[in-house]
Amino acid sequence: MTPASSTSASPNPVPSITLNNGRSIPQLGFGVFQIKPDATAAAVSSALAAGYRHIDTAQMYGNEAGVAQGLRDAGVARADVFLTSKLNNGFHEPDAARRAFDATLAALDTDHVDLFLIHWPLPTRYDGDFVSTWKTLEEFAADGRARSIGVSNFQVPHLRRLLAETGTTPAVNQIESHPYFDNAEVRSFCREHGIAVEAWAPLAQGKAVADPALVAIAERLGHTPAQVVLRWHVQLGHIVFPKSVSPQRIRENIELFDFELDGDTMTQIAALDEGPAGRLGPDPDVFDWIPA
Ligand code: NAD
Repeated sequence: MTPASSTSASPNPVPSITLNNGRSIPQLGFGVFQIKPDATAAAVSSALAAGYRHIDTAQMYGNEAGVAQGLRDAGVARADVFLTSKLNNGFHEPDAARRAFDATLAALDTDHVDLFLIHWPLPTRYDGDFVSTWKTLEEFAADGRARSIGVSNFQVPHLRRLLAETGTTPAVNQIESHPYFDNAEVRSFCREHGIAVEAWAPLAQGKAVADPALVAIAERLGHTPAQVVLRWHVQLGHIVFPKSVSPQRIRENIELFDFELDGDTMTQIAALDEGPAGRLGPDPDVFDWIPA
């Protein structure tokens, strides 16, 4: 995975990252976790109007149809938007995964997604067999309905197993990563194996914007705390998709490409890491929740 040139004509061109299968993904996107289904179309349209061309949704979020409506409302061509969705936890068995994937394409009103992920490894469910789930995603890649496939919340042993037992290296691993929990071990394994890192909860679900150290850096640089943290991710090479339903914050979160953090500032932000204690979400080694 290597940084490539920017493609957008907007005043804040978002760079692309080249994935290990040669396809490219905009490094900044818009995440729709916890956006209510009936509010999703408006939020997605705002993001598209602000210049975002990458949307991150999931079957679990229940708002894929709202994403499709947002695209139609904004009048942006499907071909110009990078769409990601994720397999829900109750559908890891191959036939269930096939049916769930068909439902995702129908809800998103498209014949393909740009990226499809296994949302959680669920190592304590399905006899720990996320390998056959991954092989099912390989079918979706082979028939072109998923242009790229990847995983989310996979730990190093889970990734090692996929590399040893299947023929496809995940294009991405979408993991929790932010200033309080940088998830260093998983990130470095991904870097060594050409797996792009997507950082979820890049703003620590909003906690980072009130952090005194980050507020001070933002004041010094004349940017907002959210912009500073998102810029830190961008410079680390992460793909990010901050979530907001506020049009003003949505615009703020894409204004990242006209300034740079120096090495000292990067180090100062990295020093906020609390290791595993800084994790906000579930531990993927034991998380086994299946939505009702
Ligand atoms: P986030 O770090 O993006 O934080 C979102 C919160 O930050 C918002 O609710 C808002 O309160 C606040 N915020 C956003 N912009 C702001 C700004 N400019 N100023 C002040 N506050 C601001 O957290 P997230 O939504 O959990 O993560 C982003 C995306 O990552 C999700 O929408 C989803 O697409 C993805 N995600 C994936 C997983 C996974 O298991 N794969 C888990 C969680 C999230």
